[in-house]
Parts: sequence; structure tokens; C-alpha cells
Amino acid sequence: MDAIILLGAPGAGKGTIADLVKEKSGYLHVSTGDMLRAAVKAQTAVGLKAKSFMEAGELVPDEVIIGIVRERMAQGGQDEKYMFDGFPRTLEQARLLDAVMEEAGSRVSRVFLLEASKELLVSRISGRRICRNCGAVYHVQNIPPKVEGVCDSCGGELYQRKDDSEETVLNRLEVYKKQTAALIDYYDAKSILLRLDASQPKEVTQARILEVLSRS
Ligand code: AMP
Repeated sequence: MDAIILLGAPGAGKGTIADLVKEKSGYLHVSTGDMLRAAVKAQTAVGLKAKSFMEAGELVPDEVIIGIVRERMAQGGQDEKYMFDGFPRTLEQARLLDAVMEEAGSRVSRVFLLEASKELLVSRISGRRICRNCGAVYHVQNIPPKVEGVCDSCGGELYQRKDDSEETVLNRLEVYKKQTAALIDYYDAKSILLRLDASQPKEVTQARILEVLSRS
């Protein structure tokens, strides 16, 4: 089993990069945000617990996250390679992941930190649009669909996530600073953190990550 992590503030491009990297690397993209949004939509017990936190831009409690990640990892085989996006977000989650990896005789091998200025993060998030049907991600200026409001790949309707609205975005950035940024030191101390400039074109970041993965 192997695990790598894409770390970075909301809007740094973790999901977009994960989509590009997974196709060429064999890593399974695991986004806790996507899992939670699916749970909210399906109105499961997890979804009902998570909804109000997500709408406010706050973190969903650790025990809920730990539960869904453990469940997801229990489905994978011994050879599974995980690429986490949006997880872990607290030290407690990071320690849990270490424990799960250790139980499997492995460890987190790499953490890619996507760094960007606050201005860039806010403009990326507020212009983000998502396909209601297949989850593809667009941006009104940077990655516009061919037809406004319509997904290029499946024809689904594009929408703006409720928590991508301007007031929630600022809170999410605060929450990142207060609760998630501590993970930078945590992984740096293990010498597995690699800093990447998230303002570069996504293909440049993708190539750099693939190059690092091919060497390990
Ligand atoms: P994301 O799509 O990663 O930006 O996540 C959207 C929202 O889901 C976050 O603002 C949190 O409310 C919640 N969430 C996603 N992943 C986690 C996590 N690992 N820990 C706590 N809350 C999370």
C-alpha cells in the first residue's frame, strides 16, 4: 500500500491536479470533500452530520472524517496506491492516517504542498464551476466550458458550490490557516514534503509530480 497527499489551501488546485496525475500514475484519487458532498446529496447519516459544517466552511468533525476514510481504505487491497486530496486537514487526521498505514506495513511516502497567494486562491474559488452530473471542474475565466453553463464532457449542468461563495471562502481560508497549515511542519519534519508553486500552469505541476513519483 502507498499513500501520497496533495496539501494546500482551498483553491490551490488539488482536485484538478489529482485528476491529471491519477490517469498517468495509477494512484486512486480520494477526495474527502467529494465523498462528503455525495453523502450530503444522498442524505446518509454522514451527510446529515456534515452538511451544516460544510455550508459554513468549517471542518467536519474528525471522527466523521476518520470513519469515512477508514471505510474507504478497508475496501482497497494491499497493493492500493492512494492519492489524498483534502485529507488530512488536522493533526489528528494525519496521525490516524499514519496509524492506518503502519498497520498495513507502509507509510505516507510523499506530500505535495501546492502554494498560492490569497488573491489567486480567492479568484480561483469564486470562478469555479462544477458539473452536477460528472463532477468535472471548470473556471469561468481560466477553464471555461465550450458552452456557458454546460459540461464539455457529459453535457451536464454546471453549478457553483454553495461554499464557494465569497463570504464562505474567506472563512475556509482562515480555517486552513488555523487548522491545516500545521500539517506543513508535521510532514516537513518527516522530510517527505515537497513545495510546488500552484500559480504555474497545471501541466507543469502535473509533470513535476509525475517525475517525482517515477523516481520513488
Ligand atoms: P473540499 O472539497 O476539500 O474543499 O471540502 C469541502 C468541505 O468539506 C470543507 O470545507 C469541509 O467542511 C469538509 N471537509 C472535506 N474534507 C475534510 C476533512 N479532511 N476534514 C474536515 N472537513 C473536511
